Amino acid sequence: MDEQQEQDYLNHLRAQIAQIAAGFSGEEEKNILRAYDFATEAHKDQRRKSGEPYIMHPVAVACNIDRMGLDAESVMAGLLHDTVEDTNVTCADIAREFSPAVAMLVDGVTKLTQMEHTAYSTKEEQQMEDLRKMFIAMAKDIRVIMIKLADRLHNMRTIEFQKPQKQRDISVETMEIYAPLAHRLGMQGVKWELEDRSLKILDPVGYQEISDYLEDKSHGFSDFLDKTKARIEEKLSQVGISCQVKARLKSVYSIYRKLYGQNLSFAELYDICATRIIVKELTDCYNVLGLIHDLYKPVPGRFKDYISTPKPNGYQSLHTVVIGTEGIPFEVQIRTEEMDHRAEYGIAAHWKYKDGLKGSQKEEAFAWVRQLIENQQDTDAADFIKNIKTDLFADEVYVFTPRGDIINLPLGATPIDFAYAIHSAVGNRMTGAKVNGRIVPIDYQLKSGEIVDVITAKNATGPKRDWMQIVKTNAARSKIKQWFKKERREENIVEGREVFERELRANLLYDPFQQPELQSAILKRFDFPNLEELYAALGYGGVALNRVIGKIKDEVMRQRAAEAKEAKLEAKLAAQSARQEKSTADSGVVVEGIGNCMVKFAKCCSPVPGDPIVGFITRGYGVSVHRQDCANVRAARKGGEDGRWIRTEWATAEKHSYHAAIKVTAKSSVGLGGEVLMQLANMKINISEMTARDTTDGYCDLYLTINVTGKEQLELVIARLKRTSGVVEVRRMSAGS
Ligand code: MN
Repeated sequence: MDEQQEQDYLNHLRAQIAQIAAGFSGEEEKNILRAYDFATEAHKDQRRKSGEPYIMHPVAVACNIDRMGLDAESVMAGLLHDTVEDTNVTCADIAREFSPAVAMLVDGVTKLTQMEHTAYSTKEEQQMEDLRKMFIAMAKDIRVIMIKLADRLHNMRTIEFQKPQKQRDISVETMEIYAPLAHRLGMQGVKWELEDRSLKILDPVGYQEISDYLEDKSHGFSDFLDKTKARIEEKLSQVGISCQVKARLKSVYSIYRKLYGQNLSFAELYDICATRIIVKELTDCYNVLGLIHDLYKPVPGRFKDYISTPKPNGYQSLHTVVIGTEGIPFEVQIRTEEMDHRAEYGIAAHWKYKDGLKGSQKEEAFAWVRQLIENQQDTDAADFIKNIKTDLFADEVYVFTPRGDIINLPLGATPIDFAYAIHSAVGNRMTGAKVNGRIVPIDYQLKSGEIVDVITAKNATGPKRDWMQIVKTNAARSKIKQWFKKERREENIVEGREVFERELRANLLYDPFQQPELQSAILKRFDFPNLEELYAALGYGGVALNRVIGKIKDEVMRQRAAEAKEAKLEAKLAAQSARQEKSTADSGVVVEGIGNCMVKFAKCCSPVPGDPIVGFITRGYGVSVHRQDCANVRAARKGGEDGRWIRTEWATAEKHSYHAAIKVTAKSSVGLGGEVLMQLANMKINISEMTARDTTDGYCDLYLTINVTGKEQLELVIARLKRTSGVVEVRRMSAGS
């Protein structure tokens, strides 16, 4: 792009935003344009991987958000969503310039900075922490996730500019987190596009095969659909029902799942296209269903009424599969206009038509998100994301309470899950269960339509530990954990300590774990104030034993690797200094400009180390070394043999060392300076300067200038000091800082 083209392009982007802004009220319109200008300025030196000006991305995201039907604040947040992460702008700036609500939305989609992570975070852990942060923000304001979906949508649309490995990483995350989220929010359009684009990256061959097949079939289908449509419309107009008939080929990924998930062949796929009949009134839905079953023979067992029992994401429709005139079965979906709109836009539809979520509606839409988060309070980021993934993916069963209320549970759920889904008090007092009036075992797997009656007793002893292995829902597991956490603290500590120590011994980690530094690093990593809390958490299942052991193992390995590296460095330095000693033992002096020459000491003046000396280049005997004040030297120099004198010095360690400035931060305690000095003395390191300064937060900074022989020795010193107890940080300072 040359300058002119780029300017045209930027004008075009601004026009796009102006058009979106025009759809809002005066004040909001102005704010959206202001957000555009603000973001353009913030990103002005950045480019997308495609080479285009960066602002094209926030603009595309804002357009996606507008298309979802969200409000002005969301559009602004879309424009600003990358400013905090990628530029110097802070959330406080955005709150001040725009509003706290917009700043909150931007913050929700901004990754944590490196600084906020513990020193032990790996790249994966960091990603998980970022996701956890996003989920928590989303529980406060659901718009956060819609903005993130709009962002992800554009990133998937422009994914070809990323490196292949990054493309795959992004696609996996999209498949595992964002597409299921879009599904849970009922945003089918977004879900299908995310899935298809991810599949194209993750299995390009499989993707191509299916899209070729669909392409091939679509010609034949349009013919078939035209006929079917005409037939249905005619029939419905006869009875005076006005309707719209639409048809759509199913998404590549939904077919992919049928082919590979259910192991079908292309020939066995009959519902690759969905015919949709959209009517005005709810009652018409059922009338139309009757008429369709009149026109075509229904396939038994394929009728589903999602109107009386909506899917958990709010989806409503009637589904049936019928046999067409040519003997080809096809799926018919019947719903009202509003249901149809909601099927496409899901939760976002609330903003488009109802000006956001209000009151109880808001409660309902948030319920599962909040529950998702509440269930996870005691887990670390890795488990948090794992649990959320299983919650997002779970297929559902619908069961009933004896009073007829519907309870939604994941496939494989047991009566215990059911009891805890009603209330934790019901679960905690549960002693058994009846399904359709018959007693069932406690690990019975519930099926849709069953009526479940939980048997409770006032004096029940509470849940059993092994229930945690039986239950399917994270909600039930977490409530059982909570119970054990509260009711059985002493027992938990004993039990937790026992399994922990047994596992330590089994892994030969018992002794290494006795180091106080290691212990405090591990406690810090898992956020426990002391060992007792760790034991308690292990006892009630608040933290997984293998994760703690894994971390200890990592840490011990890391330490051992560091020690091995130190030992190697030390050996190298020892060898070096041995070599140096040897070469100085050879002659004891260094002759300028001549390496390794033959040296003899002049008999006339017998110089000793420390005397100022000078060398004389003899004919055939190398260099003869004299004291500078030797009478012969003065005489010879007068005699005109100046050119053969050469600068010569005693070889001393002093000349091979240099000053290095380091800063040691340590817990402020008496004797700490001494501890550091001892370490240095042990390593035979000279200190030429030292100052100490207490900081306000209970730490103290020691500024040291030390003499070292080289970089390697400096590294060794820093490594040693870091391991000195009480020291939290050692940094090499650049000169003058
Ligand atoms: Mn972005």
